[in-house]
Amino acid sequence: MIGAKPRADWLPPEIERDNKGFVKTGAAVADAPAWKGAKRPPGPLETSRPGIFAVGDVRSGSVKRAAAAVGEGGMAVEGIHQALGTYA
Ligand SMILES: Cc1cc2nc3c(=O)[nH]c(=O)nc-3n(C[C@H](O)[C@H](O)[C@H](O)COP(=O)(O)OP(=O)(O)OC[C@H]3O[C@@H](n4cnc5c(N)ncnc54)[C@H](O)[C@@H]3O)c2cc1C
Repeated sequence: MIGAKPRADWLPPEIERDNKGFVKTGAAVADAPAWKGAKRPPGPLETSRPGIFAVGDVRSGSVKRAAAAVGEGGMAVEGIHQALGTYA
């Protein structure tokens, strides 16, 4: 059922998930190994792997609604621009 099961078990372990399998983002991954020593904290939709984003139902803690998923998609675009800017 959409939203009830994340079906994200194909992801590598570097992309951390919560105890129900939803992808963790933002403050929840600040202590992930890949963020240790990073010059910036993870963005609100950024996963335990810098530069990888998760939005919508699959994201841990997300509001399981269509408008929320679409809005997070739009937010992720800005997050990606910000992340790319740190490599310039
Ligand atoms: C019965 C029901 C009623 C709902 N009613 C409402 C409502 O009235 N209002 C509302 O706002 N929300 C409602 N929702 C919730 C809404 O449908 C979801 O919040 C929304 O669809 C989430 O969008 P999403 O893009 O995050 O995920 P999804 O819509 O689930 O899209 C994810 C897509 O990824 C695909 N996918 C999965 N794994 C892979 C893979 N490995 N490779 C490639 N593709 C893959 C899936 O097939 C799917 O097409 C309802 C949900 C259900 C189940």
